[in-house]
Amino acid sequence: KSRWSLAGMTALVTGGTRGIGRAVVEELAELGAAVYTCSRNEEELKQRLEEWKVRGFDVGGCVCDASSVAHREELFRRVSSCFGGKLNILINNVGTNIRKGTAEYTAEEYSKIMTTNLESSYHACQLAYPLLKASGSGSLVFISSVAGLVHVGSGSIYGASKGAINQLTKNLACEWAKDNIRTNCVAPWYIRTSLVEHLLENKTFLDHVVSRTPLRRPGESEEVSSLVAYLCMPAASYITGQIISVDGGFTVNSFD
Ligand code: NDP
Repeated sequence: KSRWSLAGMTALVTGGTRGIGRAVVEELAELGAAVYTCSRNEEELKQRLEEWKVRGFDVGGCVCDASSVAHREELFRRVSSCFGGKLNILINNVGTNIRKGTAEYTAEEYSKIMTTNLESSYHACQLAYPLLKASGSGSLVFISSVAGLVHVGSGSIYGASKGAINQLTKNLACEWAKDNIRTNCVAPWYIRTSLVEHLLENKTFLDHVVSRTPLRRPGESEEVSSLVAYLCMPAASYITGQIISVDGGFTVNSFD
């Protein structure tokens, strides 16, 4: 097997119809993996599956709200039957945010962010474990955020959810190493996607982001998906438990 290929591997990417998740689906499929994905909007999902088919990618998918326990269980039943009870790669990508001051959050907002970002990923790991183990060679990648490493003004619940994911990466890397499952985490700074386009449309805000970023621009989804794909390859076989920022230098810059 080539060290720089995903040929013959199977992957599940949560939230694959837009943004980072979409780029990850396409990157993994292009490198030869059979991919399964999900999202909530059925129309958009159908449209993407059609586009991927035309491009010759092996991608299946279903509607699933990753924040619902029942939906997650159904998703994994489908993935298991689709891939014969085995899975090489799980990318926990789904995430959401509500930006406000800590004193302003309601209990419902706390629950929505924590459930979508942390609980859904945690439970997906539990559901994926037997499948990853059965594959003989598993790779878990979380899409976290620099907000889980430093304060970026994006709201403390989001930061706490991503910080928990960063630690979970280290726990699972150690706990499941015996099953030949590697666990890594990618922490992006601003990436141009539907999640943040309303923020980056504001010139003052964009200028502020750019001024703190050594590479002087936000990132693109493809600049995240390339690292995600690399982490899943045989070429990365000794890398586990790592949190890698894709941030144009943001987290190492404290002077600008
Ligand atoms: P987008 O909102 O652009 O895309 C999210 C994707 O996930 C869509 O396909 C969406 O489809 C799907 N999705 C969202 N919620 C659910 C859900 N509950 N169940 C199933 N699918 C869902 O987000 P990004 O690509 O920007 O973000 C992806 C990840 O990257 C998130 O975890 C985010 O926190 C993280 N991140 C993003 C950064 C950025 O600047 N963009 C920076 C740092 C981290 P649908 O709405 O139809 O369900």
